[in-house]
Amino acid sequence: MEDLLDYLPEQWPSLFSALSLPKWRYDQIADWVFQKEVVEWEMMKNLSKDLQTTLASAVSLSLPSPVSILESKDGTKKILFHLKDGQMIESVIIPRGDRATLCISSQVGCGIGCRFCRTAEMGLIRNLTMGEIVGQVILANKILRENPIQDTSSLRSYDRPFLNRINHIVFMGMGEPLANIDHVINSLRVLTSPEGFGMSPRRVTLSTSGLPSKIIELGESGIPVNLAISLTAADDQTREQLMPINRHYPIKAILDAVRQLPLKKRQRVTFEYVLLAGVNDRPEDAKKLARLLAPFKSKVNLIAFNPYEGSPFSRPSNDSILLFQKILLEKMVPTTIRQSRGDDILGACGQLAWEKKTEQKEISWSPVVFST
Ligand code: SF4
Repeated sequence: MEDLLDYLPEQWPSLFSALSLPKWRYDQIADWVFQKEVVEWEMMKNLSKDLQTTLASAVSLSLPSPVSILESKDGTKKILFHLKDGQMIESVIIPRGDRATLCISSQVGCGIGCRFCRTAEMGLIRNLTMGEIVGQVILANKILRENPIQDTSSLRSYDRPFLNRINHIVFMGMGEPLANIDHVINSLRVLTSPEGFGMSPRRVTLSTSGLPSKIIELGESGIPVNLAISLTAADDQTREQLMPINRHYPIKAILDAVRQLPLKKRQRVTFEYVLLAGVNDRPEDAKKLARLLAPFKSKVNLIAFNPYEGSPFSRPSNDSILLFQKILLEKMVPTTIRQSRGDDILGACGQLAWEKKTEQKEISWSPVVFST
């Protein structure tokens, strides 16, 4: 059976063409699903019982099912989901000040193979459907509605409002979003359209390893979301060691694609740079990066490597991170350092699902061990 969430709201009338429903009926359904997080037909109280039954027999309306929610002492919540085919993905709710950001996955695993990323060890298992991508947002909103988080941006702790809805989205979970561009672009349409979640595109950021033709395609889609490109090295030789995809798409090809983006007046492209001790964190790397980015409306987001077991890399010292930032700022490149969140609940991208996958493997192996 087809799932309603795999279709854009504007496609719903053709899905139910035999019913000849007026547009306001579809608006009611969209309101239940995207604004009230209700996906049970029988709970949509302004639909007649007959219509609820007809719709339920025509399409399914399902969400990924949460398996576990881990909460960090800093308030970050990691949600591990089961998909219909038993695969697992993760999303992370990151509260900060008046922001409730959701980091979502676009694929199960990832085929890009970045050497500093734990998700890469899973390889690509499959793309997520549009329903599985927007389903993560619906579920996160449901979790926040039931357990709102406090806005800590106000200094007056006694009257801090509560946030019960995700207000920023980052595509920085498992997967390379631009390798699943059709479903990702449709998800962006649902996130930003008034019939969907109605979010401002400025509050949505897509992070990519840098697939030039897909960057251009995203620009041509006309959805002005923020783009973050994981550069992580200022020369091809170093980048190839860290991100093998660079052999196919070297830095020049990525920057040529960035030049073609229709950026708004104040819009900047973010370049992410994962700092790895002794690999790409030297002052000369910072100077090279500043020269490379000088012609662009850009900003740099420095991410100190989050070590995990078995990784050959380590985190640079705070002094070298600050020095790296200082050099970029002196060269007039706006540069921030990403604050690490949720370290105590496996903070780095892909770590939670990877851990569970390993655990699953162990469980399926144990009967063999015990029977011998
Ligand atoms: S960093 Fe992103 S693109 Fe690279 S392997 Fe990990 S999930 Fe894929």
